[in-house]
Amino acid sequence: MTETPPPRRARAEIDLGALRANVRTLRARVAPHAQVMAVVKADAYGHGAVRCARAALEAGVGWLGTATPHEALALRAAGLTDARILCWLWTPGDPFAEGVEAGLDITVSGLWALREVVAAVRETGRPARVQLKADTGLGRNGCQPADWAELVGEALKAEKDGLVTVTGLWSHFACADEPGHPSIASQLDVFRTMLDYAEKAGVRPEVRHIANSPATLTLPETHFDLVRPGIAMYGVSPAPELGTPADFGLRPVMTLKASIALVKQVPGGHGVSYGHHYVTEGETHLGLVPVGYADGIPRHASGRGPVLVGDRVRRVAGRVAMDQFVVDLGGDTVEPGADAVLFGPGDRGEPTAQDWAEAADTIAYEIVTRIGARVPRVYVNG
Ligand SMILES: *Cc1c(COP(=O)(O)O)cnc(C)c1O
Repeated sequence: MTETPPPRRARAEIDLGALRANVRTLRARVAPHAQVMAVVKADAYGHGAVRCARAALEAGVGWLGTATPHEALALRAAGLTDARILCWLWTPGDPFAEGVEAGLDITVSGLWALREVVAAVRETGRPARVQLKADTGLGRNGCQPADWAELVGEALKAEKDGLVTVTGLWSHFACADEPGHPSIASQLDVFRTMLDYAEKAGVRPEVRHIANSPATLTLPETHFDLVRPGIAMYGVSPAPELGTPADFGLRPVMTLKASIALVKQVPGGHGVSYGHHYVTEGETHLGLVPVGYADGIPRHASGRGPVLVGDRVRRVAGRVAMDQFVVDLGGDTVEPGADAVLFGPGDRGEPTAQDWAEAADTIAYEIVTRIGARVPRVYVNG
């Protein structure tokens, strides 16, 4: 039997050496006592959760963070049995018993979740680790200050009964990417008050934490016992107005490449792609790039998205379709099979994920995270 070779059409190269270096840069930013959690939710922001989690552990992190329990259980199933894994987005009916068996640190934002954890402990006969999440002002997940006493009280009671250990107290920022935003100081105040209340009531957390990437990079007073960087680990700036990845000592991990599928000469006045929003000015060569919005290329970047083809950056000509788009090569031409580099670190003349974010009126988080499952991840510097 012959193995199918990897598709030439498109690939996302994931530079694990860059990821490890980024983790070391982030570790050097926090006080020696503070730990780093590698956030690998959403398939490590599209980079591949298992490989990125392993690389981050090699670079010295002790914790992994996921949104859903299924993401966390998949890491355990892949053999990541030693790392602590915190998981924060639970929905009623989720596999709490499996989470307890797998030794996850289960985030609890409300009483319903604590009760499901206790039921899972009774079912499995294993005590659970829980971390209580406070809403200090984000207004999303987390326990409101007004409900904190009740949640802390019930968690302490479960701890006294030997059912759970409260391993952490934590929260999340709304505007950490805007230094000086008044919500930062106010969230920190509320966090300190909520920590103080829980600790006076008898909680002895291993870790207290609130810092995401922008806070890790720019707000040292928010580091507490642990920081939770996501996007920075993948070498993307969490706050482009504050600095490029290089300004923060980070290098983009993902390079998205396609192979030109067709090159052809067309006359002037030729409409290009659905809706004919682009019309050639004169006789020219068109290059067909075989990736589209099904691969996560934002349709919103139609007419704007940048691509390095040959030795020049071109713009998407006309609409991005489901599976393909076109670039106008102007007076140049390239051979079919030539590389089209949509984004990468940016130091070989190629655009960056941030450039695509600007072209699509979004953030670079969304660009890398949405690269679709049809694009194979190819790992380099493993
Ligand atoms: C996604 C997420 C992070 C990481 O955020 P970045 O901005 O990517 O660093 C940290 N904590 C929580 C709770 C998250 O949901």
